[in-house]
Amino acid sequence: MDFKNHIAFRADDSLELVEYLEANGIGYNKGEIISALDILESDPHWENILKIIGDDKHYITETVFSKEEMRSAEWLTVRSVWRYDYPQPENKYRKITYNGQMCPECWGGLAQIDSFRFKRAPKWGKRFFLTTNWEDDILFVSDHAKAMIESANISGVTFREVKNKNGTEIFPDIHQLEVHNILPEGLAWEYSCVDEILVCDKCGRSKFASNGRGQFVFRKNTFDNAPDIVLSSEIFGRAHYNQRLLIVSQKIYQTITKNKMDRSLEFQPIKLI
Ligand SMILES: [Zn+2]
Repeated sequence: MDFKNHIAFRADDSLELVEYLEANGIGYNKGEIISALDILESDPHWENILKIIGDDKHYITETVFSKEEMRSAEWLTVRSVWRYDYPQPENKYRKITYNGQMCPECWGGLAQIDSFRFKRAPKWGKRFFLTTNWEDDILFVSDHAKAMIESANISGVTFREVKNKNGTEIFPDIHQLEVHNILPEGLAWEYSCVDEILVCDKCGRSKFASNGRGQFVFRKNTFDNAPDIVLSSEIFGRAHYNQRLLIVSQKIYQTITKNKMDRSLEFQPIKLI
C-alpha cells in the first residue's frame, strides 16, 4: 500500500518547489497557470517536498495498492471511474426508479423498483463497465461483459434492463448489475479509512464518511457464505450521498482482469481481521 499525492500549484507562486523539482529532475505537469505534481509517499523526495509545500493539505491523497495486494485479497471493493450521464429524468428518477420513500434530510432509505433510464445508450469503446452520477454503488455492463460474467458462474447477481428517458424503449447492449445480497454489519470502522460517523437527526440512520486514505477493514465472519458479489450493510457518504460498498470476490477480480475488462474499474483490497 502506498499513498499518491496530487499537488496542484502555480509555478510563479511556488519558486522553491519548482527549483527543488528541477534540481532533482522530478517530472511534473507544467500548465500555463496551474501545474501539477503526482508523487508517492514512498518516494525519497516526498519528505522534502512536504516541508516545502507545508502540511496545509492543499493536495489530494489517494491510496495505491500493488497488483500483489490485489491478488492476495479474498474480497475487493470495486467502482467504475467512468461516470456516464445522470439517471433520467433527473428530477423524478427517485420516484420512478426508486420508491421515492426517502428521508427528507439525508435522502436515505430508497429501494429500487424499476429500471434506470438514460438519455441514450453508451458507446462502450474499449470499456465494459460504467456507473452513473449519484449512484457509485451501481454498475452497468455491456453485452460482452454480461456474457463473460454468466459464463464464469458468478453468484449473487442478475441483470436488469436499462431504458430510455421516457421508459418506452429498452436499450440494447447495456444492463444493470443487480446485486441481491447485503452483508451483515461487519465494518471495523476504527481501523478503516473512515473520518467520522454521521447520524441523521431526522431518521437516525448512520453513515460513514471515508477519507480515502488506507483501506476498508471488515471482520472475517461478515463474509461467511457470501456469494461472489455483495453490498456492504454500512452506508457511506456525506450530505445526500448514501452509498454502499460494492464488494467482489477474488474470483471476479481474476475473471475481469484476465479478460482485460478492467479498463474503467478501480479495485481496492479489503483487509479482514
Ligand atoms: Zn435521514
